[in-house]
Amino acid sequence: MNKINQVDRLLSLSYPKPDPYGSLSMPVYHALAYEFSTAEEMENAFCGRTDEHTYSRVSNPTVQYYEERVKMLTDAYNVTALNSGMAAISNAFFTLAWSGSNIVTSKYLFGNTYSFFINTLKAFGVETRFCDLTNPADVAANLDENSCALFVEIISNPQMEVADLKKLSSVAHENNVPLIADTTIIPFTNFKAKDFGIDIDVISSTKYISGGGTSLGGLIIDYGKFNWKNSPKLNYLSEIHESAFNFKLRKEIHRNIGAYMTPEVAYIQSLGLETLSVRFDRHSTTCLELAKKLQALPAIKSVNYTGLGDNVYYEVSKRQFGEYPGAMLTFDLESKEKCFKFMNKLQIIHRATNLFDNKTLIIHPASTIYGTFTSEQRSDMGIKETTLRLSVGLESVDSIFSDIKQALEYI
Ligand SMILES: *Cc1c(COP(=O)(O)O)cnc(C)c1O
Repeated sequence: MNKINQVDRLLSLSYPKPDPYGSLSMPVYHALAYEFSTAEEMENAFCGRTDEHTYSRVSNPTVQYYEERVKMLTDAYNVTALNSGMAAISNAFFTLAWSGSNIVTSKYLFGNTYSFFINTLKAFGVETRFCDLTNPADVAANLDENSCALFVEIISNPQMEVADLKKLSSVAHENNVPLIADTTIIPFTNFKAKDFGIDIDVISSTKYISGGGTSLGGLIIDYGKFNWKNSPKLNYLSEIHESAFNFKLRKEIHRNIGAYMTPEVAYIQSLGLETLSVRFDRHSTTCLELAKKLQALPAIKSVNYTGLGDNVYYEVSKRQFGEYPGAMLTFDLESKEKCFKFMNKLQIIHRATNLFDNKTLIIHPASTIYGTFTSEQRSDMGIKETTLRLSVGLESVDSIFSDIKQALEYI
């Protein structure tokens, strides 16, 4: 059995209870409530003494099947599937934060995560402290006994900053603070977060995992490593539960917020898991090859991809993510006007947001994702008017490159 790799093992598994019809794939259980033979069994299930399903806001067999498969691939303590990446991030922070606590992070964040921190959580008395995550001394200076988390995006989108994760995890743990990472940009088949001291992953499974822009979803992956005894909020639970975080999340926060994944999405994303590593290999090898080809075009002022040997984060990126750090790259043209002219001439590349669809997508971040931010906020967040973001799809590198080349002739 040892010769069988993790992905193959995943394909060989069937679901825990035999299906009456012998269905080969996990059925979509559109069940909302679950019936019990006796009142006693019902009491036991509702009081958590057995793990039978009771109500699909809390758990559902098809979603649980998906969670179990992610757990197997990540070697995690527990996995919770939610209905978007933002639901994963907000559920994680409602579990971690308290009024008077602070989050230490960088300004290089996904737009909605930034807004969630500075607007949504602020209204509940949670402070966000921005610092330079590539400078451990700056991080340490911002952490204190009220820090509920150190938060990082493993490759920031779209600035492409890469912090040294082992250093971040040491600084966090020396201060008894958990390291929470948004690892959406590199899937867990190719990046083992646990080996870098990340305590909890939050992921938008909308991206790589969904299998080609099929569905919104999010994951919270708890590696069960952090000692919550020192957390002012969760220490009271750590006496009785292996992971106080997971207990609080599953027994309270996720039930109260009500953003659990739906069974249809869990079905689709379970299929996505089966092809994830094959798709990622194709996406990311194409991306590196394309990045090199784009560097040779005079109309392109600069190409930002951490897999390029001359990128400032090349060494740390290679150590953490290998030769092929994902399928997102950015490049700069001379002006916003040239970016727009170029975009409008593209023939096969789609003008759309999202990342890691099967199709190649392009967006001008400053005027879209960051369009409602002030220009001062944009410059604080490292968002430039001249930058275009490309999510490289499954087309051949030659087709993508020739589309870019022909469109550049018009600017
Ligand atoms: C897309 C994305 C999110 C948000 O995910 P949704 O599924 O759209 O809610 C969060 N973080 C990163 C890095 C993303 O790319």
